[in-house]
Amino acid sequence: MRECKTTCPYCGVGCGVIASRSDEGEISVRGDPDHPANFGKLCSKGLALAETLSLDDRLLFPEIAGTRTSWPVAIDHVATRFKETIAQHGPNSVAFYVSGQLLTEDYYVANKLMKGFIGSGNIDTNSRLCMASSVAGHRRAFGADVVPGNYEDLDDADLVVLTGSNLAWCHPVLFQRLMVARERRGTRIVVIDPRKTATAEFADLHLGIRPGSDVALFNGLLAYLHAHGKTDPLYIFKHTHGLAQALMAARGLDVAKATGVSQHLLEQFYKLFASTERTLTIWSQGVNQSSAGTDKVNAIINCHLITGRVGKSGSGPFSITGQPNAMGGREVGGLANTLAAHMDMEDPQHRDIVQRFWKSPTIAKSAGLKAVDMFEAVRNGRIRAIWIMATNPVVSMPDANLVRDALRACPLVVVSEAVRNSDTATLAHVLLPAATWGEKQGSVTNSERRISRQRSFLPLPGQARADWKIICDVAKAMGFNGFGFQSTAEIFREHAGLSAFENSGTRAFDIGACSEMEDSDYEELEPFQWPKTKHAASSPRLFADGRFFTPSGRANFIATTFNATAHLNPLVFNTGRIRDQWHTMTRTGKSARLAAHCGEPFVQIHPIDAKVCGITPASLVRIASARADVVLRALVTEAQQPGSVFAPIHWSDMNASKARINALIAPNPDPVSGQPDLKFSCVKVSPFAARWFGYAVTCNSILTPPADYWARVRIPNGFGVELAGEFAPNNWRYFAEALLGGHELATYEDMQSNRFRYAAFNKGVLTGALFIAPGPVGLSRQWLGAQLGQRFSANEALQILAGRSGGVPDCGSIICSCNNVGRNSILSAIDNGAVTLTQIGNITTAGTGCGSCRAELQGMIHGKCLQAAE
Ligand code: SF4
Repeated sequence: MRECKTTCPYCGVGCGVIASRSDEGEISVRGDPDHPANFGKLCSKGLALAETLSLDDRLLFPEIAGTRTSWPVAIDHVATRFKETIAQHGPNSVAFYVSGQLLTEDYYVANKLMKGFIGSGNIDTNSRLCMASSVAGHRRAFGADVVPGNYEDLDDADLVVLTGSNLAWCHPVLFQRLMVARERRGTRIVVIDPRKTATAEFADLHLGIRPGSDVALFNGLLAYLHAHGKTDPLYIFKHTHGLAQALMAARGLDVAKATGVSQHLLEQFYKLFASTERTLTIWSQGVNQSSAGTDKVNAIINCHLITGRVGKSGSGPFSITGQPNAMGGREVGGLANTLAAHMDMEDPQHRDIVQRFWKSPTIAKSAGLKAVDMFEAVRNGRIRAIWIMATNPVVSMPDANLVRDALRACPLVVVSEAVRNSDTATLAHVLLPAATWGEKQGSVTNSERRISRQRSFLPLPGQARADWKIICDVAKAMGFNGFGFQSTAEIFREHAGLSAFENSGTRAFDIGACSEMEDSDYEELEPFQWPKTKHAASSPRLFADGRFFTPSGRANFIATTFNATAHLNPLVFNTGRIRDQWHTMTRTGKSARLAAHCGEPFVQIHPIDAKVCGITPASLVRIASARADVVLRALVTEAQQPGSVFAPIHWSDMNASKARINALIAPNPDPVSGQPDLKFSCVKVSPFAARWFGYAVTCNSILTPPADYWARVRIPNGFGVELAGEFAPNNWRYFAEALLGGHELATYEDMQSNRFRYAAFNKGVLTGALFIAPGPVGLSRQWLGAQLGQRFSANEALQILAGRSGGVPDCGSIICSCNNVGRNSILSAIDNGAVTLTQIGNITTAGTGCGSCRAELQGMIHGKCLQAAE
């Protein structure tokens, strides 16, 4: 058994992982007990990493126009086409769109090539969609993009305010750390979120604010703190600037009216915040992904500055990043408006420093196009060649159909990818096979500024290459010096060297201590937090001394004005993530265990809105905006606020008929950060008039059913597919044969009741089954899925057509993925008297593994208790 210490590739917690490889090649993963981000814990996604490593649908060879080619030809083609485009149309006619999935070393060379050698600022990253508002907010307040605290603050806080953060689902290991702290010291928790999320189940106080009203809430808090003398006057006097203007903008607001939160609840929150010295405010995409995202960030920071609660143990403003290396991308200047090593694009001195360090022929003179503007420029022909690396903008960008159409019209689309068939990869003229997790070497930085190594433990499959190598090869083929790196260690040393170059403490990001490290030291590099200069040890906490990186050395209060957004008619559309999937499912979608938690794209809607729109629970609904429409399963729930609906972001054209929900969303960016508003748009909801419904299981790997509605997930031995249609096919048997394949087809057809059932066998082994009915198909999905690949006699085959599970109860969708415990089993335990997590664990084992499901279990207990009380 060989072991490798690496890091999880999903969220910004940045958990340490130990991957083990047996002599037979079997991979297993567990949490690294020594990693300070997680101390051995992993969430359900991290624990399923080994299930996502198959080479199914891997891009293994370079392709040009869909035809396999060699690396030299592909590199030469990309370099030549980029050079020709630049020669004819100038450097701003090309662009890179990169990703928080890239490692820092990949990011560094991509940024160096675009800004220092091509001479354009046109490199932006999908992190623009994730945390650009926090970057902008930090820079306005602190003079640098710095997260002051670290995860230990969760252990030490007395009050944790979670705003726009479903921590229980999106950063589960941090949430569990908070739960442990609460157990130990009674930490109080306030959740600010329009939805009653899984996180809110554990809140002492849940403020279900009106979508988009965060600035009003925190402006109200600022005014309250000042009016009640709950400020730190000495701190304000010595270390800050601009309070008067911030107060002027904050005062006089009817906060209850603006936020929709009762005066009583507001008072409770404000009093709690005012009286708790150790207060930590955590936020994430619910704050950042907004057309007022930067103001929201600064409204929060203002409340910490007025109380002097910045950079102190257990207190401070804390932005948690979504992606594993969003922070690393910020360090190398992966955003179109920043330079490498946290230097400023608009500062001629910084441009000069970077250019001299790189010895580059040029340097971008001004900011490039941010993500939304970049794809608009592709659409209107200003950008004529784009290279997309490790991301899927046709799914993840707002106005996603415009992005798709823009790429279709672009003369050159290059995509570096591990996946052969993503929505974006299928539009590429050139496909470059990239290494993925387990195969890559490099480093990442998590939300608390901690740099950790990602290490490879798998060989590169086919002709896949590391991203940094692909970028350097193209740069060299374009005729540029400065890209002769032989290893990621060499790139990391240069990156560290630039951070320290002519940096006399004026720039926060300085890891000069690593600029001369040996390859072996890089290989063994232990996780550390920046800064770590040549002269001082790593700093887990910044700003404790009240000195900031602004020209005056003081932090800035920012005057944030609340602009009430017009009421959106008829419904506000909010988007986000679910617990067990990551981004566009290209990796987590490979795990049947993760898919069992939530197998279909859905929309949450409040019962009142459902009634008004004619929606019944579990029916299919059409969600339409001015831009597009999608079809999703209705989840009618009081967790959703009346007037707004919520849908998760993960489904794509690769696994559902019509569920790319970002196609609905207008590209409405924050004016300061350029981060698009993915949480506040306007939609209509109506029933999807299905005339038939179906459910199929099949061993076939490729399946795009000819149905108006379909959604496909992995199940243990194949795929499960939900189906529905507005019009029935002429011949159900042909439909079944096309869908299931198989050699022998057993059939049950009832024309009277419009019920049709088919089971496909190959030498007696079940290879597929299809159930069609005029209404939603009532059938145990788990039972049917488990029959795939089993051998049946002729008599037993009838049992499949009968859809009888032989008395095995349907456990429902899987809530506890560690122990495979379904919703129905848990509800039954609650019905039988279990009212605590421990009791549920004792009866069902749910919640006794990684703990990611505990918030959901708590919600189910609350729900049942409420039902019982009514
Ligand atoms: Fe990976 Fe985040 Fe889960 Fe940790 S919390 S295992 S980093 S997805």
